[in-house]
Amino acid sequence: METLYEDLHRNPELSYHEEKTAATIAEQLRKLGFAVTTGVGGTGAVGILKNGAGPTVMIRAELDALPVPEKTGLTYASHVTTHDDRGVEVPVMHACGHDLHMSIGIGTATLLAQNKNRWHGTFIYVGQPAEERIGGAKAMLKDGLFTRFPKPDFAVAVHDSNEYPSGTIAYTPGFSAANSDSVDVTIFGVGGHGSRPQATVDPIVLAARTIVSWQTIVAREIDPQDPAVITVGSIHGGTKHNIIPDEVHMQLTVRSYQDDVRKHLLAAIQRIADAEAASANAPKKPIVQVTESVGAVYNDPQLSDRLASVLKQVLGESNVVKGHPIMGSDDFAEYRQFGVPSAMFALGAVEPAKFAAAQKAGENLPGPHSPFFAPDREPSLKTGIETETAVVLELLGRP
Ligand code: ZN
Ligand code: ZN
Repeated sequence: METLYEDLHRNPELSYHEEKTAATIAEQLRKLGFAVTTGVGGTGAVGILKNGAGPTVMIRAELDALPVPEKTGLTYASHVTTHDDRGVEVPVMHACGHDLHMSIGIGTATLLAQNKNRWHGTFIYVGQPAEERIGGAKAMLKDGLFTRFPKPDFAVAVHDSNEYPSGTIAYTPGFSAANSDSVDVTIFGVGGHGSRPQATVDPIVLAARTIVSWQTIVAREIDPQDPAVITVGSIHGGTKHNIIPDEVHMQLTVRSYQDDVRKHLLAAIQRIADAEAASANAPKKPIVQVTESVGAVYNDPQLSDRLASVLKQVLGESNVVKGHPIMGSDDFAEYRQFGVPSAMFALGAVEPAKFAAAQKAGENLPGPHSPFFAPDREPSLKTGIETETAVVLELLGRP
């Protein structure tokens, strides 16, 4: 699997453009005797291995890479550049470790294909596009992932992490990643000369006030026991010192776990934007649009505990630890929205000695999305394959 991993790492592709990657995965699965369908939800690949009557288990591996310039110095580092959807030339790197997840899945598929006497049922490898743009899972589901192909009884995934040493797996029963909504806001004013504010409605002052008021949503409206985040990640307005512009654009990311909290946050963002605009006598209401969304990752608690106890037997008690929820997001969440009990595991990917030294020094190590992130290759692959194989055998194993 190391050869496959290095090959995938050298040849990353951006979200929605994973043609070559999907072809590589499809070829690997076909060689193992899987029935393979490509082009599912864009570039998605689905491989099915049927082995008699029994439950159906899917594992998810993401196909896409990121516009990040690789700085790891590895012999198999990516030197790929491409044009993104805006036509801008960008570097491409598997900076999130999706190449690792794909290879782990193929390693697992190989062991299952070679050991058909040890399990029964249906195993599905889902090569999912565009995780980084939280659109690939939705696209595959819309294209019939659970209707054209057997609907799984369980869905499983691993994701590499710089928070644990290699050889370690973390499990998090319940919520492990957040609802994520990208919100675009345009605030309107009346532009004019910077020296004559009395003849304008200044959208920059209005935007500033709106941002400060939004901060009170989490601080004053949401139960402190319920996690919530509102971050204004971008704000653009105006062209030079002495011109008051007509409008200001903002881009927000909004995070939560509970669905009612999510609804409240989004409604409050609109309500406060409207009210601030009215108070400033703005010529029209702001436009507030949710442009990208994904639900929270919820690991079925019973399933997580069951699989964790199996992993403790396989990897050793001390190598299976309880993880902690984060406000990051992953569209693996979509599968449970269709009623499939699912579990996602964090896979330690840092060389243990390096990990211990960094902990001692109180330093942060490069993690997913960093140009310096380089998973501890062989041990991470091995632990990932052991994990997925043990999980599938637990769910599909012969009694
Ligand atoms: Zn990522
Ligand atoms: Zn990722």
